Amino acid sequence: MTALFIADLHLDPGRPQITALFEDYLASDEVRHASALYILGDLVEAWVGDDDDAELPQRIACAIRAVSDAGVPVYFMAGNRDFLLGEAFARRAGMTLLDDGTVHDIHGRPTLLMHGDLLCTDDVAYQAVRRQVRTPQWKAQILSLPLEARRAFAARAREDSRAHTGSTMESIMDVNREAVAAAMRQAHVARLIHGHTHRPAVHAFELDAKAAERIVLGDWYEHGSVLRLTETGAELRELPAGPACA
Ligand code: MN
Repeated sequence: MTALFIADLHLDPGRPQITALFEDYLASDEVRHASALYILGDLVEAWVGDDDDAELPQRIACAIRAVSDAGVPVYFMAGNRDFLLGEAFARRAGMTLLDDGTVHDIHGRPTLLMHGDLLCTDDVAYQAVRRQVRTPQWKAQILSLPLEARRAFAARAREDSRAHTGSTMESIMDVNREAVAAAMRQAHVARLIHGHTHRPAVHAFELDAKAAERIVLGDWYEHGSVLRLTETGAELRELPAGPACA
């Protein structure tokens, strides 16, 4: 059996070819015959609430619902772009919400699943903002605003994020090795899968004198990216996108 993992699709009406790629992939035999599909955050570029009546969330719900209706469990963990995605949308899409830091048994191996932003502890400014916006009070306050106000707020947040990313050193925006080790020790796992950094790779290393593995998922900016995990190994694969004007 093959478990599939994707993250950092950043689906956005401005990149329709990537949305089409996502829909095509979810309709593919590979997905329909998988043991599970995990979406580890930043499925969309911005999420303003489950009551959003725009076309994109509707298309996403239909595409994911078809996978779960076909009998493949779909799991979703929020990223920093879509942490306002809640139970209402998850039910509509037929997917199960996972907390950041959930451990799932995958082919007999306990595996820690994270979006990845919590591991970037060197980015102190980001972590401070993250703590602020993840409180139930802040989320409730934002979600009580009219949709238009939330859309404007999301656009501003994206500008801020771009400015921060542009002015912060690459190394600061990668994961911190000690944070990785601490998270894996606390979860009692030898395998971690995360996204967020957009640096797809399989890192083999030693954790407390035992073999350990950290698998980083790729983003979907230029093409798709998927991790196929079987009993025998991990394979990161690119999915070619169609032409922009297909
Ligand atoms: Mn992210």
